[in-house]
Amino acid sequence: MTHSPMTLTRFLIQEQRRSPETSNGLTALINDVRLACKRIAALIGKGALAGCSGEAGTVNSQGERQMRLDVLANEVFVHTTEWGGQLAGLLSEEMESPYRIPAEYPRGRYLLLFDPLDGSSNVDVNVAVGSIFSVLRCPDDVEEPTERDFLQPGSRQLCAGYAIYGPTTMLVLTIGRGVHGFTLDREVGEFLLTHPDLRIPPHTSEFAINASNSRHWEPAVKRYIEECLAGSAGPRGRDFNMRWIASLVAETHRILMRGGVFMYPRDRREHGRPGRLRLLYEANPIGFIVEQAGGRASTGEEPILDVVPTSLHQRIGFVFGARSEVERIERYHRDHNEFEYEAPLFGARDLFRKPVSPM
Ligand code: MN
Ligand code: MN
Repeated sequence: MTHSPMTLTRFLIQEQRRSPETSNGLTALINDVRLACKRIAALIGKGALAGCSGEAGTVNSQGERQMRLDVLANEVFVHTTEWGGQLAGLLSEEMESPYRIPAEYPRGRYLLLFDPLDGSSNVDVNVAVGSIFSVLRCPDDVEEPTERDFLQPGSRQLCAGYAIYGPTTMLVLTIGRGVHGFTLDREVGEFLLTHPDLRIPPHTSEFAINASNSRHWEPAVKRYIEECLAGSAGPRGRDFNMRWIASLVAETHRILMRGGVFMYPRDRREHGRPGRLRLLYEANPIGFIVEQAGGRASTGEEPILDVVPTSLHQRIGFVFGARSEVERIERYHRDHNEFEYEAPLFGARDLFRKPVSPM
């Protein structure tokens, strides 16, 4: 007798039986999100054959040029989830303000926050992209949620997940009891549990950062990377490897599969640039997944999930992955907040140091 495989639907129903806080409504909502991800996987899998590659010729609420697939993936997410009666409102990277559920559909208790297509600049070069989502509870007395109702710290998330559209399509999910990975069986059309209880190893020798920003980094980040690059001859006493895919979902997935640490830190560009990634639908859901997998997710200074958001599309410095490395980076931030670290390799001051004039 063969065992019937653990589909995502069966997994959710079993979780619901085990734990009363996972409601019917949440299971139904995740099922709709699953369908949105399957639709986007099909669209992306067609590539140029679908005739929707390239730029849309529009910009999103944050002034970024939209790809046609950004716009299409957003429409798929909205129209696959709005009708089911589980949602009070939606917030997307691609929409400036929260989306109102059309009057003809019943309202539910949940808020869905999402990045419909993460890493979309990777689509045209056929590198993995993804979708990221987060579920919050809508405050009890609220009928029509406004901006304020979405500004909840990440620690209040009920569910978070991402889909990765790579050589295989996977959906990785947490509902607050570990992190589980499901692989899309394309012939059957179902996500099957293939990676139960994912754990991030506490130690690593692999880091990911966009080194072209090094001149803008804060002293703590300069020191950390400098020490990694020094390898076995440096204070860490071992060699490190570097990776950079420029897709948050793909970086997260690698770290869940084999460990590592990722940094897109706050840096010192004009206007005190607070970071690149968005708190509500990128850092918070990834942070929830990482913490549930035994890793650590931080702004560099405090746990990402403790941050009280101040605006819908707020950006933030984000460091996550192997617990011991993230704790080290936080320690360096505490050490270097008071004074400069003079990085011998990256510090512009070394290259341009003025000769010391005698007093
Ligand atoms: Mn993104
Ligand atoms: Mn996106």
